[in-house]
Amino acid sequence: MYAPKDVEKPIVPVRLDMESTLCFSCDKELACFTKCCHNNSTFLTPYDIIRLKNRLNMPSDEFLLLFTMPGKIEASDLPVPVIKLNPEKNNACPFLGEDGCTVYEDRPVSCRYYPIAAGLFHNHDLENNENFFALIKEAHCLGHDLGQEMTIAQWREDQGIPPYDEHNKGWVELILRRKSLGPFVEIPEKTLQMFFMACYNLDAFRRFVLKSNFLNIYEIPEDRLQKVKEDDVALLYLGYDWLMTTFFGAGRLKLIEHVAEAEEIEVD
Ligand code: SF4
Ligand code: SF4
Repeated sequence: MYAPKDVEKPIVPVRLDMESTLCFSCDKELACFTKCCHNNSTFLTPYDIIRLKNRLNMPSDEFLLLFTMPGKIEASDLPVPVIKLNPEKNNACPFLGEDGCTVYEDRPVSCRYYPIAAGLFHNHDLENNENFFALIKEAHCLGHDLGQEMTIAQWREDQGIPPYDEHNKGWVELILRRKSLGPFVEIPEKTLQMFFMACYNLDAFRRFVLKSNFLNIYEIPEDRLQKVKEDDVALLYLGYDWLMTTFFGAGRLKLIEHVAEAEEIEVD
């Protein structure tokens, strides 16, 4: 699963892959300009939040409070922040300005993919997940059949998507692993909080790593720790490893010798 901009949007029922082509062009001169930035449920991925909160120069907890509301990832119970729309402005995205998107260079990945919905096909076998795509065709969007023909691979490059997919890979893996447990396995509230903090509220996760018992339990090499202190992406990758280790016993973080596996770390 890779959250489409809005799951309610009309999806053309044809499964596309990287080599499938589309003709699409978006332009300020089109009568539909910014119509796509209203009435959406735009899910935010971990790397979306890093880019947006750093662009807006605010800590992740403040960003989440001001601009998002809680959502759930379908068939998983896992939380995901969804952009909070502005009811006083026709349910516009809060990042929409007079001249269009005010965070364009750091816009979320689902805005970059649009008019493509991206997903991961999975049959409970993590090795066989593959990318799949579909075209979203909304009556108000006038960009279809304009511009040059491109493959989806070219569209992804053109829209700056590859780093998003790369840095969200660990998040997608966690979601697929959780889904593979099936709907009858209940996830404890504390686990959901850990997932939320490590994936979305990175400044809180950094405080947790540095100020809780974390470093007395896990062996984090000094150079990795230094990067984690300064770089949000390095911190996010530590979060993925921590969640994979604690939730799925994947052993991606080494326990310090003599530390009992059962030792508790308090999550705020
Ligand atoms: S062409 Fe489609 S994507 Fe572009 S502004 Fe118009 S509605 Fe939005
Ligand atoms: S982030 Fe930008 S492109 Fe995406 S919905 Fe909001 S205003 Fe539109």
